[in-house]
Amino acid sequence: MIPVSCGEIADAVRGELVGVEPAAPVDGAVVIDSRAAGPGGLFVALPGERVDGHDFVGTATAAGVTVSLTTRPIEGSPCIVVDDAQRALGDLARHVIGKLPDLTVIALTGSSGKTSTKDLIGQLISPYGETVVPEGSFNNELGHPLTALQATASTKYLIAEMGVRSLGDITYLAGITPPKIGLVLNVGTSHIGKLGSQDNIALAKGELIEAVAAGGTAILNADDHRVAAMRSRTQQQVLTFGEAPEAEVRATDVKIDGEGQPAFTLQIGDFSAPVQLQFIGEHYVSNALAAAAVGVAIGLTPEQITDGLNAAQRVSAARMELTERPDGVTIINDAFNANPESTRAALKSLAAIGRSRGARTWAVLGEMLELGDTSADEHDAIGRLVVRLDVNRLLVVGEGAKPIHLGASLEGSWGNESAFVGTIPEALELLREELRAGDVVLVKSSKAAKLRSLADALVEDA
Ligand code: ATP
Repeated sequence: MIPVSCGEIADAVRGELVGVEPAAPVDGAVVIDSRAAGPGGLFVALPGERVDGHDFVGTATAAGVTVSLTTRPIEGSPCIVVDDAQRALGDLARHVIGKLPDLTVIALTGSSGKTSTKDLIGQLISPYGETVVPEGSFNNELGHPLTALQATASTKYLIAEMGVRSLGDITYLAGITPPKIGLVLNVGTSHIGKLGSQDNIALAKGELIEAVAAGGTAILNADDHRVAAMRSRTQQQVLTFGEAPEAEVRATDVKIDGEGQPAFTLQIGDFSAPVQLQFIGEHYVSNALAAAAVGVAIGLTPEQITDGLNAAQRVSAARMELTERPDGVTIINDAFNANPESTRAALKSLAAIGRSRGARTWAVLGEMLELGDTSADEHDAIGRLVVRLDVNRLLVVGEGAKPIHLGASLEGSWGNESAFVGTIPEALELLREELRAGDVVLVKSSKAAKLRSLADALVEDA
């Protein structure tokens, strides 16, 4: 963090200094895990589900932090005492970002592809200025301010991933880091259980477009009508991306090779050039175009953008991560998380790889969570899609995912097989018995359904 005195922090977070001088400087990292605490830093004591951060304030003090943000004084440790430490963390980040007027904040949201796209944007723009990129999926009221606090006077770009669970979430996050560039990738159905409808999801994500700062740019997906309609929610410049003819940053001639990697012609105004992505799945074309549009908005040349997209690599694990096992079986681990849109996209990629290799394909699918009343229908529809895509084998894992199996079984004539097992060990046993050289296996579920452990075990098998 940029150096800030404890007195200034206390003012910013409306806290009370206990056992620390106002002039004491904080110039180290701001952390919520005492194991990461270090000299000159600030430790935020949060009430956790299993442990209370206040139990670790002493450890953080011993590690050399200048002060801890707490909700009660801790004997022997310098503290800034506040009512709500999480809220105070946001207030501190907002204050610090306010002291960095030359920083360009690039904020993005969407139902699918936020993390993959922020990694892509990071790779595209970091050669042109010091860039802070969130770690993993740091996209909520904790991860976001912690990322923002990594910005310093020499940081040129801050990328901010913003997740949505409820209306108002993005307004809060964007208030901490007012975005010069606001990007909405897509409006799907994840978290529909909480938000009630896709229109409400659009309402919530569109808060980002309303937050774009004066003189900034709103970047919208021309292929998603709910996103394109967000144009009406800003007075600022709008830039569109997609395969639609009206998109300003556009892909044409999209093709998928035998590895599932898309190639396309990138068109930006009169410029056009071939791009070969090193990501798997046609859905990454949309993410790449979104990143390209960010490049346009910050003033990169089309050539710089093309080079950046061609060079970009997958960073975050378990998103369409392809492993060729020595025994000739290919595992596609897409089990970081799942919702209906990302599952459909993954299945289409699996089918495309299977077609181009002439390989036997397997979809190993677990539950998609947080779908509320639509859950059974959405799972059923995925089962039917597996049949329509002519995936060769379907293995459905876990009770919550059973409607996928039922949907596939009801879809009709399909010369292939669907199986259901209740647990991951049963799935592993079945796959170990049946997989053979040449097979391509997609593994996907929501995070909490834990099929990632199945994918990891399959990758280690040979
Ligand atoms: P989460 O909020 O669950 O972390 P996210 O929005 O950050 O998700 P990623 O982590 O990048 O998204 O990817 C999650 C899943 O969505 C992966 O299976 C990935 O392959 C898939 N995905 C990535 N981009 C898209 C896209 N544009 N459309 C549909 N699915 C996508």
